[in-house]
Amino acid sequence: MQVTVDEDRCRGHGICGTLCPEVFTLTDDGYSVAQEPGVPAGFEQAVRDAAGSCPERAIIVT
Ligand code: SF4
Repeated sequence: MQVTVDEDRCRGHGICGTLCPEVFTLTDDGYSVAQEPGVPAGFEQAVRDAAGSCPERAIIVT
């Protein structure tokens, strides 16, 4: 599983960083960065939950 955050869509709600801080790091202004594109084993569902919870649909899972 790969995950990226579309920085043009992200509006810094921070939900992803709350749901899965192991994968999503929030910058000082609250915007999200996927630490690594490859999702570590065991975090697939948390990443899917974060993607489904992002109001901007900025999280792209492939
Ligand atoms: S939940 Fe969506 S909009 Fe909010 S910080 Fe994460 S990627 Fe950005």
